[in-house]
Amino acid sequence: MCSLALGATKRRRAKSPMERTRNIGVVAHIDSGKTTITERMLKLTGRIHRIGEVHDGEAKMDFLKEERERGITIGSAVTFFKWDDSSINLIDTPGHVDFTAEVERSLRILDGAILAVDSVAGAQAQTETVNRQMNKYGVARLAFVNKMDRVGADFANAVKSLRTRLGLEAAPIQIPVGEGPEYRGIVDLVRMVQINYPDQSDDPGEFVEGDIEDAYLDRARQARATLLETLSHWNDELVELLLEESEPPVELVMEVLRHATCKENFVPVLLGAALRNRGVPALLDAVLHYLPSPIDQGAVVGHHPKTEEEIAFEPNPESPLGALVFKTVHHPSGDLTFVRVYSGCLESGSTVYNPRLRKTERIGRLYLVHASTRESVEAAKAGQIVACTSVKLSATGDTLCTREKPIVYGSTTFARPVISMAVEPKVNSQRDRLGMILGVIAREDPTFQVQVDDETGQTLISGMGELHLEVVVHRLHDEFKLDVSTGKPRVAYRQTLSRPAAFEARYVKQTGGSGQFAVAKVQITPTGGEEVEFVDKITQGKITKEFLTAFERGLREHFEGGGARGAPILGVRALVDDGKMHEVDSSQAAFYACGALAGRMAEERCEPVLLEPIMGVEVTTPEEYLGAVLGDINSRRGIVRDVGAEGPVRVVSARVPLAELAAYSTTLRSLTSGRGDYSMEPQGYERVPASLISS
Ligand code: GDP
Repeated sequence: MCSLALGATKRRRAKSPMERTRNIGVVAHIDSGKTTITERMLKLTGRIHRIGEVHDGEAKMDFLKEERERGITIGSAVTFFKWDDSSINLIDTPGHVDFTAEVERSLRILDGAILAVDSVAGAQAQTETVNRQMNKYGVARLAFVNKMDRVGADFANAVKSLRTRLGLEAAPIQIPVGEGPEYRGIVDLVRMVQINYPDQSDDPGEFVEGDIEDAYLDRARQARATLLETLSHWNDELVELLLEESEPPVELVMEVLRHATCKENFVPVLLGAALRNRGVPALLDAVLHYLPSPIDQGAVVGHHPKTEEEIAFEPNPESPLGALVFKTVHHPSGDLTFVRVYSGCLESGSTVYNPRLRKTERIGRLYLVHASTRESVEAAKAGQIVACTSVKLSATGDTLCTREKPIVYGSTTFARPVISMAVEPKVNSQRDRLGMILGVIAREDPTFQVQVDDETGQTLISGMGELHLEVVVHRLHDEFKLDVSTGKPRVAYRQTLSRPAAFEARYVKQTGGSGQFAVAKVQITPTGGEEVEFVDKITQGKITKEFLTAFERGLREHFEGGGARGAPILGVRALVDDGKMHEVDSSQAAFYACGALAGRMAEERCEPVLLEPIMGVEVTTPEEYLGAVLGDINSRRGIVRDVGAEGPVRVVSARVPLAELAAYSTTLRSLTSGRGDYSMEPQGYERVPASLISS
């Protein structure tokens, strides 16, 4: 057995621990082999001794039990391992598009990613969604064409799909020796050697390296020439060597590959068959050689919580602390808060500052985490990812820093839920427990919300899609042994106001006894946004801050609570520029009631319109079912935007109201004899056609 880890180049200068750190994720369309690749990496690095095959439902990385049962990965567990002289944090990104927000949260803290695609299907619908998100967060990528042993495996086609479907500047740095059942090795185009795999192997590290077989020599030379030509765009020395027709040194090729991958959006393509223990060591070598370390990423820009001024702390342990909470996981022995440290040093037992809450928080212990075991550490330095215990206040999306040098990373708002469902415990005495558990789940996942209807006592859960809520219900049964019955999923409608208005809200009751007096002049403007904005333009203390805050609360509660029609009124700005108080009769309660009155008056004057969530849906189907798929989309009030071809498969992009998509996966399966696939994500809100609104 040999390993490429010590392979072609050994760096001259000793690298710092941060240069030897990689924070990466494996992202893929569901079923492309993400879990299997992860398992093989862990086995290679000595973390697991027996590989839990996914189809046995024993994969260690699938942290939560229901993920194993469903064979999908929902939670973002982090696992830490060593390869060669480097430390790798592998962040487990969810594969299902119902959890887009969670994918985004985990991508944000990655420096690099492995994009795994199926050798037969190539890039698929969900790869596209995730790829778009990686572009957004500037995540450097390697592509890994997995399942090269499958009948129908077509490496060239998979590479083409990365270029055409995902628009990536991708080129192979390996080519296969044989494909499908004949697949038995690779040619490494950087070092121009052939790697052969044994017929059967239980060891993902087993391979034999040798000269390239004659039959593959021409193909390899050609592929290498294409690779070098692409790379020469980014390096003059390489251009000169190519013009002189001299052989560029391996070290130079690797250096340019690294630069192109880290800085120029170039995507090197590798291949293998994780299930057959093929290709994983070379993949890990490529992670170290070509994906960025936290230092390559440079200082991450945040802003000052008060002045909004941009700030960036250098990514080293001596800088002020800057860290981001990206996941909270409920654990029987205490919740775990996962943190990426961008700068400075996070120490166990220390006190940190949370600028959103304007409070300090004590950090308990720190751990490096391997799916289900942990390793205690005293401190986490810039570039590291750790799990903390005893974090009481900070939630996902919060920044942790010092009070003296505060910083906030990114926005802390998450998409609002688009679907909700009632849940009831089967045994009434379990009602409090249900509330407690749902609270825990909501803390883990900011896109999941829980509300209790004051009047009916009914518990309503809401989230980003049907599957999202199903998973929660499944967890209640399975993990928390709580039997619940559920209502039908209900689409979360919204309203907005269609025209502006200016008026005076007078809440005045002065007949006998102690009266109530609150008057405010309000201008209401539709903004087209997603929030209720409140603007204070009061001068000369006409309304005190305290009363105005009560007024704002009354107005907001009316709008966000759904007004007369029961759907939140959003995308509105309320500006208050004048008002009156009474020495005796004005109170917070009076101004609160006046705020609610202003909300009702705005509803009467500004013509509210009902909006429904629209999903961007992408369906892949064999050509023969295309007609049926299109007909079905039409019957769901869908608008087909594009029908593309990807080999024998048709790709339909459409916009469809969520209200029409109930149980879509079942319908699609039956329409396409189980061969169709789809992904969807919220794409905003649109007016509900008048013909559908019952008055
Ligand atoms: P994930 O959904 O992306 O995490 O994919 P999994 O790792 O769960 O794999 C999906 C299925 O593909 C499982 O049944 C695996 O055993 C199988 N699989 C994974 N890698 C390979 C491979 O290299 N070759 C073949 N033939 N099957 C594979």
